[in-house]
Amino acid sequence: MDLHFSADDEAFRAEARAWLTEALDGEFAVVRGRGGPGDEHSLFDERLAWEQHLGAHGWVGVGWPAADGGRDLSLHQQVIWYEEYARAQGPGRLGHIGEGLVGPTVIHFGTDEQRARFLPGIRAGTELWCQGYSEPDAGSDLANISTRAERDGDGWVLHGQKVWTSLAQWAQWCFVLARTDRQAPKHRGISFFMVPMDQPGIEIRPIRQVTGTAEFNEVFFDGARATDADLIGGVDQGWGVAMGLLAFERGASTLGQQLAFRNELDAVVQGLRSSGRLDDPVVRQRVVRLHAGLEIMRWNTLRVLSTSADTPREALITKLYWASWHRALGELAVDAAGAWGLVGDPAAAERAGAEPSGHSAGASPAGDELTDAQRLFLFTRSDTIYGGSNQIQRTIIGERGLGLPREPRQEDP
Ligand SMILES: Cc1cc2nc3c(=O)[nH]c(=O)nc-3n(C[C@H](O)[C@H](O)[C@H](O)COP(=O)(O)OP(=O)(O)OC[C@H]3O[C@@H](n4cnc5c(N)ncnc54)[C@H](O)[C@@H]3O)c2cc1C
Repeated sequence: MDLHFSADDEAFRAEARAWLTEALDGEFAVVRGRGGPGDEHSLFDERLAWEQHLGAHGWVGVGWPAADGGRDLSLHQQVIWYEEYARAQGPGRLGHIGEGLVGPTVIHFGTDEQRARFLPGIRAGTELWCQGYSEPDAGSDLANISTRAERDGDGWVLHGQKVWTSLAQWAQWCFVLARTDRQAPKHRGISFFMVPMDQPGIEIRPIRQVTGTAEFNEVFFDGARATDADLIGGVDQGWGVAMGLLAFERGASTLGQQLAFRNELDAVVQGLRSSGRLDDPVVRQRVVRLHAGLEIMRWNTLRVLSTSADTPREALITKLYWASWHRALGELAVDAAGAWGLVGDPAAAERAGAEPSGHSAGASPAGDELTDAQRLFLFTRSDTIYGGSNQIQRTIIGERGLGLPREPRQEDP
């Protein structure tokens, strides 16, 4: 396993760094470091302009094949791009669902027509996406979905409800898992639809979160339509596509995530230093543990990325590890703020009164009354839930990684 970067890679790093520095020191300085955990409602218009700026300069879909409009970068160079993006404190991406999940899925499972139809809008940052998987009775047990799509002429009509749909209030498209054969066993008879959000029969209701803002929503389908051209992977073949999409969540971008975590840890340590709490041996121990955790994540991700196996065992710990690490960081951040950590900082509340909160859809001023530490603390509680909860991750590690006996399933006899 060679973990070194070549001279070409280092030249690419210099190019990426120079481009990011110029953009984020200049025209896009306002979005630098914004839109992260707990701040995802902020500066929508400015971050959308950033998304389109990235697209115009070929920085969206850097790992996609050139034939699909990507840069066809090697894995090493993708890692470098995401590292430099985090190092430059690039803003939280509005297009990450399109770029990271939809793009690779369409490239892998889509037809030529579907690639031509869906990829350009993602690349250009003009079409945002959301993920219509979870329902009130289907989260960890995703195959329990009851949203249905019924044949109607040469198209499909959707009825049902999705929940926790991040960014639905801004997205032009949603990929939706819907049942197309209600007689089939649970994991079969599901299809994967690309559904335009701007049409009759779709209602979006923001869900106010503990941070006071509304990053996710309930989405109701009551007669919304999709065409055959919007169906990825064929009728009743959606489960395989849905699982394929989830596998794309583990990619080169996870290395960039660790540098973003490093920035957050540095900010927390800075807070501890200025409050004098860094001298406390217990606090120091927590900082060192977090530092070591980051190093472990980095090496494990490199190990995963450098193996040729489709689903290396080492990848199974990734989600459990980073989610638990991030939650521990949120806890330290609040502790680092001392007494204000719990009750809030009056100076921050005053600032919130003076500053607009950015895009208004679904946002609440309450989000701006929180300190950065509180926002991080509250948002990181959700890390151990979405994308597969910690309990589910442990089951996956036990069954697939360690070969332990399979957990009984509802559908088992
Ligand atoms: C911030 C955030 C953003 C999200 N964004 C999206 C999105 O954009 N699109 C989308 O489709 N979904 C989204 N989700 C939903 C997310 O995928 C679900 O919350 C997650 O899959 C868990 O499902 P659930 O909430 O229904 O909890 P449940 O599945 O009901 O689980 C409840 C509790 O029971 C435990 N549990 C469940 N089954 C088992 C088991 N077999 N063994 C042991 N313990 C178990 C779980 O770990 C959990 O603690 C988001 C969630 C969050 C928090």
